[in-house]
Amino acid sequence: MTIKYKTIKEIKNMISQKEISNKEIIKEVFDQIQANEHLNAFITLNKEPALKKSEDLDNNPSDLPLAGIPIAQKDLFCTKDLRTTCGSRILNNFIPPYSATVIENLENAGCISIGKTNMDEFAMGSSNETSFFGNVENPWGKNLVPGGSSGGSAAAVSAGIVPAASATDTGGSIRQPASLCGITGLKPTYGRVSRWGMIAFASSLDQAGPMARTAEDCALLLNQMCSHDEKDTTSLDDAIPNFEENLNEPLKDKKIGIVKDLDLSSLDNEVVKVYEDSLKEFEALGASLIDISLPNLSLSVPTYYVVAPAECSSNLSRFDGVKFGRRSEDPNNLEELYIKSRSEGFGDEVKRRILIGSYVLSAGYYDAYYKKAQQVRRLIKNDFDKAFSNIDVIMTPTTRGPAFEMGSKGSDPIQMYLEDLFTISANLAGLPAISIPNGNIDNKPTGIQIIGNFLDESSILNFAHMFQTSTNWHKYTPEGVKE
Ligand code: GLN
Repeated sequence: MTIKYKTIKEIKNMISQKEISNKEIIKEVFDQIQANEHLNAFITLNKEPALKKSEDLDNNPSDLPLAGIPIAQKDLFCTKDLRTTCGSRILNNFIPPYSATVIENLENAGCISIGKTNMDEFAMGSSNETSFFGNVENPWGKNLVPGGSSGGSAAAVSAGIVPAASATDTGGSIRQPASLCGITGLKPTYGRVSRWGMIAFASSLDQAGPMARTAEDCALLLNQMCSHDEKDTTSLDDAIPNFEENLNEPLKDKKIGIVKDLDLSSLDNEVVKVYEDSLKEFEALGASLIDISLPNLSLSVPTYYVVAPAECSSNLSRFDGVKFGRRSEDPNNLEELYIKSRSEGFGDEVKRRILIGSYVLSAGYYDAYYKKAQQVRRLIKNDFDKAFSNIDVIMTPTTRGPAFEMGSKGSDPIQMYLEDLFTISANLAGLPAISIPNGNIDNKPTGIQIIGNFLDESSILNFAHMFQTSTNWHKYTPEGVKE
């Protein structure tokens, strides 16, 4: 019996049928991590506590909703007594005294945290090449990037090591790696999941969510991740539905918005064809396609690259070598301690963002850049509000193409930033969005993105699940189709 490539739902059944013990599951996970060491998906492992928890479960079976389910945690979430680096040298010795609310919620639901996954430094990147701990390899091919910033989480699920992982998405970091690794990844509505204990990148955009093999598993995970949290002032207090409830609702008479302003001309024909085939599949499931306009969509990437660096420059000022993490050795005075700790501790991409952010927030340029970007952000949000008056969801490709070679975009930051062309607008507007596997080009997976209205994760999960009941793309693995 193996749990490789199994879904949470399947593993839950295996446990309840006593086909496998909790300890066997966790042992297999660590064997798989070792067998896949070349992927470099993990930064820190949680082996002994995880094994202990599985033994306890074997001795005292539990009926918690996710009892015994192994989960990999992105190394951006603080985990009590377990090193949390955020992919950065400056935090390479940081052991948090508390766990993020998301981690607590998942563990309280019975999940077993396996370890911390590799990621772009402070979640800035789209290829996992900015991590201090080295690149992550995409299980679909040697030298292919897994996407980023949640590259380690995506690779661990894609390789079948774990059925699920936690991740975060500021401009696309759940959906883009999910797409490049052939798995399902969901970014919830801003405020749905508590940000408490998440190391902040851009606080008005950051949101945690699940990565798994299916939309159904994402619903199971989201049910447990969400909670109103007084420790996060942006945490929403709205009712949290049971996200499993509407999964099987027929799509007949439902409406999909197709963005007519979206320029697909820069995409490969094959990418466009895969996308259009998926839309036909949704039509066959009963949904209809409606043209919509999001006239300010083309401004999302430039808007994001003002707002996100501005917030990051402010958030990252707390890393000064004094309060958290690594301190430079032998500075001559206090100022040098700050300068050296930050110069040695941060990588190039993080420094670039801090510089841009400090510039756009500076007294002389604030109105021209930061204020303007906030105004455009509002226009983008208004466009979505208008569009959603007449449709259920919006669809776009998730990315401009499948996984690319390591090193191929590193020298041109703009090319890297355009990786999130289709994903960033959902963060700017605070909307939920999911990426699901929808095709395969030269044995590399592709994804389609489904964006929902504010707080309407249920609809995007419904569309995603129905697609997965009528197609097999989510069953493709780097080793062939799983049955
Ligand atoms: N790739 C984008 C960036 O580098 C988004 C990252 C993210 O969502 N964390 O900012």
